[in-house]
Amino acid sequence: MKVLAFSERNELLEELLSFLNQRTDEVDIICREGFDPSGFNVKNVYYFSADLYDPWQAVDTISNIFSNGYDYLFVGASTIGREIAALVSQKLGYPMESDIFEFQVNNGKTLIKRYFFGGKTVMTKETEAKVFTLLPGSSEIKRGGNSSYKVQKVELVGTPRTKLLGIEEKARGTVDITKAQIIVSVGRGIGKKDGIELAKQLAQKLGGELAGSRPVCSDLHWLEEDRQVGLSGKKVRPKIYIALGISGQIQHIVGMRDSKIVIAINKDKNAPIFNEADYGIVGDIYKVVPMLLKKLEG
Ligand SMILES: Cc1cc2nc3c(=O)[nH]c(=O)nc-3n(C[C@H](O)[C@H](O)[C@H](O)COP(=O)(O)OP(=O)(O)OC[C@H]3O[C@@H](n4cnc5c(N)ncnc54)[C@H](O)[C@@H]3O)c2cc1C
Repeated sequence: MKVLAFSERNELLEELLSFLNQRTDEVDIICREGFDPSGFNVKNVYYFSADLYDPWQAVDTISNIFSNGYDYLFVGASTIGREIAALVSQKLGYPMESDIFEFQVNNGKTLIKRYFFGGKTVMTKETEAKVFTLLPGSSEIKRGGNSSYKVQKVELVGTPRTKLLGIEEKARGTVDITKAQIIVSVGRGIGKKDGIELAKQLAQKLGGELAGSRPVCSDLHWLEEDRQVGLSGKKVRPKIYIALGISGQIQHIVGMRDSKIVIAINKDKNAPIFNEADYGIVGDIYKVVPMLLKKLEG
């Protein structure tokens, strides 16, 4: 099974390669110059150096390489990656499956898994697709394989349909919550922006990082957007995940259900988050967290 993998984001590519390494020995990659593929069993590396801001820029290059005897194309599911995968599949006339998190070939049948109904269910599907995007967080990053590969430089060929007028860096948090071992995650139940301070104290005391639900990060902007956990945020897998005032809607759960220990604090004893929790405290954040802090102090 010969696979071509692409991502314009190095970390996503590392995940993609870790995922593929468990399924095939024949992987080539197209990536930005400077990406270090050592330990990922890669055979051929196609480096491009241009800034990629328009999916049309890369479509011809990727399609041409992919048409050169590969069985499958895997693309990291970033915004631009999803568009590129769709355009390549359309150009070459191959079916595509987006945002998968499992892929197996058994007796000639290709089986994939992806979330369905906004993450409420998991769909297992037999597919004829040749192009896939892999959901971020589908694999832990693991090097340890072969490091001998051939390198070739390629030009991105394609006709951009947008004109780059300027780039403005998005305000980012200083941490990558996907790497955190302990996460204190804040939900709308915190009630006010000032309440974040209390959660921050708990996170600091435990040596953990702050994260949040979508209302807190993307709607109310009480935390940076890249601290959002869930379907449209990050997928995390810490040793301890403490949910403060998070109801536990499925779109949040899909981002944290791989945490080893989940502790939930919620004043509603029927909140669905308790179904995911190893330890649950029914109570008010503003009463329970100060008690925890006191205990941790003593
Ligand atoms: C396509 C799509 C994508 C989405 N992606 C995401 C995503 O990536 N991440 C995400 O989180 N959501 C996502 N959502 C939104 C998701 O459906 C929920 O609306 C969201 O997770 C709810 O956030 P919450 O638990 O913070 O707020 P709420 O659902 O409002 O829950 C607040 C909780 O706090 C409790 N509470 C209130 N006051 C206190 C107190 N003083 N002490 C203790 N407990 C208290 C309440 O009992 C309640 O359970 C998505 C939705 C859609 C449709």
